[in-house]
Amino acid sequence: MKKQVIILGNGIAGITLAVLLQRKGIPFVLLHREGEKQPFALGETLPPSAMQFLNELKLLSIFEENAYRKTYGYHSMWGNSRVTDINFFHQNPYKNGLKINKHQTLEKLRELIKDNMISYQKGLEVIHEVYGNTVVLGKNEGVKIIQGKILIDATGRNRTVLQKLKIQNEIHDELVAVSCHIPKIQHPKLTHEVYVESFKEGWGIVSALNETENICTIFTHKGHEILSQLKEVSQWKSALAETVYLKDFLQETNQAKLKGGNANSSVASQIAGSNWLAIGDAAMSFDPLSSHGITNAIYTSAKAAEAIEKKLNFADSEAFPEYGKTMQTIFKQYLHSKNNLYQQETRWKDAIFWKRFFTSYS
Ligand SMILES: Cc1cc2nc3c(=O)[nH]c(=O)nc-3n(C[C@H](O)[C@H](O)[C@H](O)COP(=O)(O)OP(=O)(O)OC[C@H]3O[C@@H](n4cnc5c(N)ncnc54)[C@H](O)[C@@H]3O)c2cc1C
Repeated sequence: MKKQVIILGNGIAGITLAVLLQRKGIPFVLLHREGEKQPFALGETLPPSAMQFLNELKLLSIFEENAYRKTYGYHSMWGNSRVTDINFFHQNPYKNGLKINKHQTLEKLRELIKDNMISYQKGLEVIHEVYGNTVVLGKNEGVKIIQGKILIDATGRNRTVLQKLKIQNEIHDELVAVSCHIPKIQHPKLTHEVYVESFKEGWGIVSALNETENICTIFTHKGHEILSQLKEVSQWKSALAETVYLKDFLQETNQAKLKGGNANSSVASQIAGSNWLAIGDAAMSFDPLSSHGITNAIYTSAKAAEAIEKKLNFADSEAFPEYGKTMQTIFKQYLHSKNNLYQQETRWKDAIFWKRFFTSYS
């Protein structure tokens, strides 16, 4: 099989790029792993600033129709023990964000490009050459060979293509997340259904997923001793006993499912090559405190689609290097503002989690 573009990865970044290439009439194939499990719902929040961009890409209605709900603001207790009310009413032109139902949104987007998707079970080999890329899927008799001028890494934090191309990662911290779905309660002192609170061992966020469930995620550093308590849902309440409002959301239960994983900031040392690009988390992954992971996935896909069009249709040799440079600049700006945000919390400057933000960071 020969296609102009081969996309590896089936998340928001890969699917968005596929939809945009289809609209531009650029032949592509999207490769995904067979029988992938439905992802654990993280209930990601999309800020109002992303809505305008989605509208320009003519994707807003799909995201809106498949979201859990609209969000109109959030509360946070960060830097002091007062609750701040951040209201989107003053944002323009959109006065709301979205609580994303990623699974449902992806299902809808996949329907648009399903004829150009190929699943594979095991065995993925990438042969990268200056004049093109070959991907070999499967083993023995079931083998499929796909050739494409351009190869896209949209495999999220796995960075599968980049690993095969031996591109290094720049890792900026060791933030990890543990999430659990818990029965929904409405806190008597909070009006918005998203609440962020920092505490000595890290920070946490609780938000409403739907009518019956909240999701609570705790962020700390890899290896922190609080993680051993967070392994058991029954211990969350005691682990978070010193928090002001977070603890109120936790009820005695053993039922909730837990999901842990990396949530650190990292960037690929190279985001674009002569005939490959990385998009979404594969290019650069953001701390969820920024609420910009999904926006980044959509933005990098849109910029990658433009760069691919320039390269294929107008033989623009600068399109890929420019894409890489733009993304590296964005990542530097992001790191700066993320570190500033952490430095606004000075109450536990000497605690293991916080002191890293006051000593050395890049
Ligand atoms: C706890 C937590 C909370 C978050 N909260 C927010 C938030 O509030 N707002 C926000 O905007 N962002 C948030 N994010 C970040 C956001 O979820 C990600 O940035 C976004 O989903 C990245 O999309 P992606 O398509 O780049 O990667 P992914 O969603 O990781 O998709 C990658 C895809 O590639 C597939 N894949 C991986 N390896 C292979 C392989 N070898 N072969 C084929 N396929 C492969 C995966 O199965 C997956 O389908 C949060 C993240 C975490 C961890």
